[in-house]
Amino acid sequence: MSGTDVIGPTRREEIADLAEDVAGDAVPVDPDGVLRSQRDVSLAYGSFGDAYDGLIERRDGRFWVYCNEARTGGRDSPRARFTLAHEAGHYFLDEHRNALLDGRAAPHPSRADYTSNELVEREADLFASHLLMPTAPFARRMKKAGVGAPAVLALAREFGTSVTSAAIRWVSLVDHSCVVVKWGPDGYGWRWASREAWSGRYTRTVQDASALPRDSATALALRGASARSGFVEAGTTASAWFDYVRAGGSRDEILMEQAVSLGAFGVLTVLFPEALVRR
Ligand SMILES: [Zn+2]
Repeated sequence: MSGTDVIGPTRREEIADLAEDVAGDAVPVDPDGVLRSQRDVSLAYGSFGDAYDGLIERRDGRFWVYCNEARTGGRDSPRARFTLAHEAGHYFLDEHRNALLDGRAAPHPSRADYTSNELVEREADLFASHLLMPTAPFARRMKKAGVGAPAVLALAREFGTSVTSAAIRWVSLVDHSCVVVKWGPDGYGWRWASREAWSGRYTRTVQDASALPRDSATALALRGASARSGFVEAGTTASAWFDYVRAGGSRDEILMEQAVSLGAFGVLTVLFPEALVRR
């Protein structure tokens, strides 16, 4: 990610506020209904091959949103819901909408002419995240959901999102040390750390899957282990995961490691202090 592609804090807040205004109070939010309630939007589901999940274009004086069921699964699938919420971002965010209106943006997902396409996509994803998981109801339900993977799985079910989307939202709001690591089929993908994790320097994680202990929860899940709870868990240490932490040093502590299988998309690891489970 280049520096110019980062969404600044003011812009993040602006996008989040707009999405949460649009979302209203009901949980789960219905992005299909949100789009259909706009007089100048038409929405169509269909099988459009493998090219895109969703698309928005301006045609005949209207905005047309297409949701590709061939890639997103059923209409109510988390992926279809996120796709619609993302396209809603291109509609509700003034800059995106104006670019569609005056033809500066070719029909999404074409990459023509926008000076920074990637940024635009990230803005629409941020909008989608806040539309589907508005801060106030999400934070309220977090309090009852407990810690770690069980909380993330329950929140994903309740808000109708993917486990990955719920995990990112959860880790960004949680008030304790926590790191979420995404492993794809080809290895390390990315990680998100809670604000507290930064202060503990629990940030840069192991990035080489083969460096993980063979019996760690993540290694087991990557090899296809599963559990009825939806995740594999085991104790680990901070020093096993974070290169700033010296084994046996004052920052080293027992962590809980929970690994959720995402099927073909890999594994999500959730790391947090083991003491929180007993709190
Ligand atoms: Zn887009």
